[in-house]
Amino acid sequence: MMKYEMSEPIGEDFTKKSNGYYISKKSLIVIVTVFVLLLVGVAVLFYFIPRPSNENEVVYPSVVPPPSDDPEDDIECPPMPDIPVEEPTESDPFNGRLSEDIKPKNYKVWLQIYLDIEDGSKRYSYDGNVSIVMHVYATTNTIKIHVRDLNLYHENTHLTDSLQNDVEISNLYEDEVNQFYVIETATPLAAGEDYIFHANFDAPLTVNLHGIYRSFYGTPPNEVDLVASQCQSVAARTIFPCFDEPGFKATFDMIIVHRDKRRALSNMPVIKETTLEDDWIETTFDTSLVMSTYLVAVVVSDFPYLELIDGDLTLRVWAQPDYIAAANYSLHIGLKMLRFFEEHYGIPYPISKLDMVAIPHFFAGAMENWGLVQYRESTMLYDPEVHTPSRKERVAIVVSHEIAHKWFGNLVSVVWWEHIWLNEGFASFLTYIGVDHVEPDWKFWNSFHVLDMASAYTADSRSSSARPLILPVGWISEINSLFDAIAYSKGAAICRHFRAFLDPTVIHNGLKDYLQTYQYGNAVSDDLWTILTKADEGFKGTDVKMVMDSYTLMAGHPIVTVNRTDTNTVIIKQTYFLIDRNDYYQEQYPNNGYIWHVPLTYTDSSNPDFLQPKEDWLYRDPIVINLVGLSDQDWVLFNIDKWGFYRVNYDDDNWQKLANQFNINHTVITDQSRASTIDDAFKAAEPFHTDIVNALRLTEYLDKEFEYVVWETVLTNLDYTHRMLLRTAEFYLFEVYWSQKVRPLYESLGWDFSLGGHLDYFQRINAIETACTYGTEDCVTQALEQYWFWMSTGVNDIRDEVRPTVYCTAIRHGGLDEWEFAHAQATNDTLETTETDRLKSAMGCTEKSWLLQRYLQDENFATSTVIDNIRGKSAVGYSLAWEYTMNNFGQFGFSYDTVWEFKDYMNTQYDLDQLNLFGARNSNMSSDAAKGFYDAVQRVETNRDWMNKNKDSMKDWLLQVAEISTTGTTEGAMTDVPRPNTPSKQLINEGARHFRWEMGWTPGA
Ligand SMILES: [Zn+2]
Repeated sequence: MMKYEMSEPIGEDFTKKSNGYYISKKSLIVIVTVFVLLLVGVAVLFYFIPRPSNENEVVYPSVVPPPSDDPEDDIECPPMPDIPVEEPTESDPFNGRLSEDIKPKNYKVWLQIYLDIEDGSKRYSYDGNVSIVMHVYATTNTIKIHVRDLNLYHENTHLTDSLQNDVEISNLYEDEVNQFYVIETATPLAAGEDYIFHANFDAPLTVNLHGIYRSFYGTPPNEVDLVASQCQSVAARTIFPCFDEPGFKATFDMIIVHRDKRRALSNMPVIKETTLEDDWIETTFDTSLVMSTYLVAVVVSDFPYLELIDGDLTLRVWAQPDYIAAANYSLHIGLKMLRFFEEHYGIPYPISKLDMVAIPHFFAGAMENWGLVQYRESTMLYDPEVHTPSRKERVAIVVSHEIAHKWFGNLVSVVWWEHIWLNEGFASFLTYIGVDHVEPDWKFWNSFHVLDMASAYTADSRSSSARPLILPVGWISEINSLFDAIAYSKGAAICRHFRAFLDPTVIHNGLKDYLQTYQYGNAVSDDLWTILTKADEGFKGTDVKMVMDSYTLMAGHPIVTVNRTDTNTVIIKQTYFLIDRNDYYQEQYPNNGYIWHVPLTYTDSSNPDFLQPKEDWLYRDPIVINLVGLSDQDWVLFNIDKWGFYRVNYDDDNWQKLANQFNINHTVITDQSRASTIDDAFKAAEPFHTDIVNALRLTEYLDKEFEYVVWETVLTNLDYTHRMLLRTAEFYLFEVYWSQKVRPLYESLGWDFSLGGHLDYFQRINAIETACTYGTEDCVTQALEQYWFWMSTGVNDIRDEVRPTVYCTAIRHGGLDEWEFAHAQATNDTLETTETDRLKSAMGCTEKSWLLQRYLQDENFATSTVIDNIRGKSAVGYSLAWEYTMNNFGQFGFSYDTVWEFKDYMNTQYDLDQLNLFGARNSNMSSDAAKGFYDAVQRVETNRDWMNKNKDSMKDWLLQVAEISTTGTTEGAMTDVPRPNTPSKQLINEGARHFRWEMGWTPGA
């Protein structure tokens, strides 16, 4: 299933129920102390804030999300949508695994679909029957078959032996807890024999996005119905009774009866279409390959298709009629990727057709069903006339991920869900190979750093989201909780990790062997380790299981500290890395002392070699490495291109030498290693492993840097420092510095989006946003002119991608007129929500307190929204928002969350006292609110400590590096832009703009 990101933090929905909330001892002491002081000093009566409860239920959507055209909206690895089921608590032992005594060989599934008015009361339902040929491995008189939400005709359920003789059923019932249909026989079923189970049933077709369900396109009254399906993880049992575990593979003969205005698709090619009476058609599909139940797929629709025939393979893409042209891109890259992976692994795709269908309502990003991949419309359809490069990349990523699953997932499946990373990690990793093959200009391997790798490290460095990659599960909610950033992104990063200690050919041969060995079967993680160990025999002889167990059975990852004791000697040790120094170790998981087998790769400036770096191993004890031939000026660099899944920190001196190298000639170090070095420095500084100045020094060369992956990494990391400095006197210097650093990049790219390649598109958006945010003069001028043009003409031709930046910049550097114009637009009912949201956000960018006060009191907007839009934009905005929130809490529908959200900007003892005082005054808050309170207190403590540690050194550094002209360079500090005396070029013909200055301006006119 597809997969990642970032827009909706996956970790939150996936927080396990068993993660009780925890407060650090230190926090508790501070909290209690403050409470006691307040009790005495303020003489206010309150109770202790209740400890938060452990309830953290996975919330399932009750309504169908609208089809999204915005790639940012895609949740790539959501849990399967699922009807909440009455499951016992997870502390109850799970006894719902299938018995190995009896296994399915073949299913014959017949379904009749009712979607039309003429179907009367049967409309939006289906009838079905199933015959399952089963083989008995150990004599038994009990069969358990998964079933859920089906209306079974028990009277028709029967059992025969291989000679068609009835076998007497003595008892028949549904075990709802384990979702089993239990059939007990009067006489035992003999080992070595086949038996056939028969059942009839019906079920509704609702828009519930799981199992087999109804979707539609068009608007009422012209909606057109269709049927789609989604079985992963355990929804095949809602379509027909089945042995619904991935390890219970079988073949499937599907027959779908439907009206002749639609066509039916399933995993295999159609072998027969029989016209029945009235307008019914019975479509019979070829017997499937041996596969898992979660891969069964059905689509019944009137969609048109586009087709490519390549040798004996027919690839078709299907979509609703108005969108079919936009399926062309996925059709062509899909075929290229399929052929590439066939050759890459030397195993042909084994079905003569592949259908890819864009479904109007689909919960996951896409689903890899063998022979019939289903997508969201936004992940399969790309129209170059309409969509952005961002959408194009998204489509390429998702198609590549699903095609990669043909080998990792379809051909070789997992035995049980705890190993699901073998599917999702590999598919996510191979995505980069597939995209790189079809779009070589994108340098897509570099993007691994800012996509999956960033997501993996983020999830894995917080105790709230980190978990062992391999985690035993049983209940459905536990299974679904595994489809998270750890399985996808850390899984992908773990695949890359092999490169840190195995040769590429060994990895490649090992994976080929793994696929050959387990094709049409199932595997567990140990099977892969065994095969990779075998592949490395005669090379490095690595015990792959020993290495990989530390990365798959423990949560988290290490930070490796490299300390140079003299010119030629380094001492290296490791420690568990948590991004928040007030976070805690997870005691519910096995940890082996949090020690990893760390494959070290390294090079140095005496002979920088990023292709064949030196290697070593680090385990429990620190190691000493002797570096030959280094001088005092030489640097060392570890974890080449971040192949290994760990972070690196150095002593101050080596950080400085790396910064010097960046300044002198950064190209000596590869762009991937530049990005990862900068990333490590910022991340190491957050929990005090190093000083933030060591990270900031690495940015001094950025006026010579043009690589997308480096800039993207820097900008992601800048956010925290930006927030911490926002309310300090040094923020001005910070603005000046970044305005200077980004200017060459900004000037090289400009505003013309028709120029440059794929990466220039993303780089340009970053450059404009950064340059305008930090006040680069030309950027501010351009933004104002574009905004003024809109004001004067009523024509908004500002590109969508830069609208948030342009609006915010124009309002920050403009005055009343600019703000009031945005106000008029934001209260205009005809605008789309995304546009009004942008305008409302931009209105918070003004630094005029009287405008902010006006905004806060404006009855057109929800007060909490206004607070959200003001809080982080400026120091004055923060102060006014906090004061307003404190003065008015209890009115305007303020929620506690509005208060807790200030935590990201609070970083002084005074801030912490304020927060605690608020908590004390509201001690009757709910347990949910209390959890937010404790989180916020912990965050603010962390921020305060960070500021205490770094503030002075940051100030010293900023004074050194920000070259401020005493004659008054205004960049970075521009507030009101001087209005030009003559109209800009763009406005010469307008007249209106000229008129505005001379005659005044009426907002909204
Ligand atoms: Zn997947």
